[in-house]
Amino acid sequence: MASSSFDQLGLIPPLAQAVRELGYEQPTPVQEQAIPLVLAGRDLMAGAQTGTGKTAAFALPILQRLAPQASTSASPARHPVRVLVLTPTRELAIQVEQSFKEYGKHLPLRSAVVYGGADMDAQIRELRRGVEVLVATPGRLLDHVQSKTVMLNQVGILTLDEADRMLDMGFLPDIRRIIALLPKERQNLLFSATFPDEIRTLVKSLLRNPAEVQIAARNAVADLVTHVVHPVAREKKRELLSYLVQTRNLQQVLVFCGTRIGANRLAHQLRKDRIHADAIHGDKSQAERLVALENFKAGKSTVLVATDVASRGLDIEGLPQVINFDIPHSPEDYVHRIGRTGRAGLTGEAISLVAPPDMEALAAIERLIKKKIDRVLVPGFQPDGGTAATLMGRESRPASRRGEAPRATAPRPAAPRPQRPQGDPIFSKPYEPSAAPAAAAPKAEESSQQSKRRRPQVAALLGGLKRA
Ligand code: AMP
Repeated sequence: MASSSFDQLGLIPPLAQAVRELGYEQPTPVQEQAIPLVLAGRDLMAGAQTGTGKTAAFALPILQRLAPQASTSASPARHPVRVLVLTPTRELAIQVEQSFKEYGKHLPLRSAVVYGGADMDAQIRELRRGVEVLVATPGRLLDHVQSKTVMLNQVGILTLDEADRMLDMGFLPDIRRIIALLPKERQNLLFSATFPDEIRTLVKSLLRNPAEVQIAARNAVADLVTHVVHPVAREKKRELLSYLVQTRNLQQVLVFCGTRIGANRLAHQLRKDRIHADAIHGDKSQAERLVALENFKAGKSTVLVATDVASRGLDIEGLPQVINFDIPHSPEDYVHRIGRTGRAGLTGEAISLVAPPDMEALAAIERLIKKKIDRVLVPGFQPDGGTAATLMGRESRPASRRGEAPRATAPRPAAPRPQRPQGDPIFSKPYEPSAAPAAAAPKAEESSQQSKRRRPQVAALLGGLKRA
């Protein structure tokens, strides 16, 4: 199927230009579907994960809808909050606001981001200048509402980004309180990777006659991901993790831990095993998290141990391996976690270290992903006989596999990471400027630091989407 280009989506020149400067040549599927709907003023319910280009799918048409009201006036009164984007974490909030800045850099629109765990005063100063686009985590936004440092009575577009995560994190009451402060007449957009019942209820109460865009099948996991379970005695998990990293010469592994303390302890133990490891979780300062993330992306650390909350929305997709050191308790978290791998036309591997108490959680995951995950014993690490049998799921195996001896396989060495093939037609396509009239004069030159940093991932992303 021939895909459309950005100019077919009718973006105004200031946006088309920003997109071109970022090196985007073709809209991703979620952008292709969502942009016209949002431009038409529809409410939208979109099933799309981080890494699909979902931020631009809402930021671009939102900016376009705001463009007629853009003002070069310095007066804060000319820049009321017209767009509110709620996100579950500060990392995602920062990334989303950064995207608004990048896409909107040729429009005289202002944006700001407010999130918890950071100085209120600096945020208040930003808000006082007046901003059309406000990206916020719910709790901190309510702090600002309470201290009357933000007014929401002119919000015309509300976006809930990663709505499922916000609900998981208990933000629903805050979200409802915020919605009550907004004008009734407004456009509502909801993005979510998964659609558990609570999201459906929220959708019903929030969205009016919404258009639906579904990028991956509901609750589906990437086909390019190989899932494997290593049954292991609980006390041998850490040793097994080090063994896997070392014997398979793994280079960049995101490891999920259930608790902050566990994550810290695990990173510490891995370092003792001479593996470069860092931890990222809610007790770490913003600066510490960013350093850990940058080191990991730059290949300075091999293992990044993360809690679910800390990893949410982070721009670290396309990893070769994700390891569940602790199995997630909510099966949706499994989908989110492994969404970090298998992107971009690259194959990925989701490895879960499963001890006897994890059996129920594993079964719930298998039900959600509709897949029986292979159990692979690693010699020297298997749990004792009876437990191993349960963990291997022998009773629940399909008849054809009953009686099969459990596979005891030495872990295979890491394959070199596949590269995106050269000469991909998507990237050789020249950009053609849109014929639509300009809404505002371009301003300021590009600072392309960010776009450069993202470009390899972008290439990978499109490679993956092409296949999908
Ligand atoms: P998101 O899903 O919004 O987190 O986007 C994931 C990454 O894809 C970001 O680094 C974007 O800069 C990049 N991206 C978004 N849209 C496109 C596009 N049309 N072409 C290339 N890269 C894109």
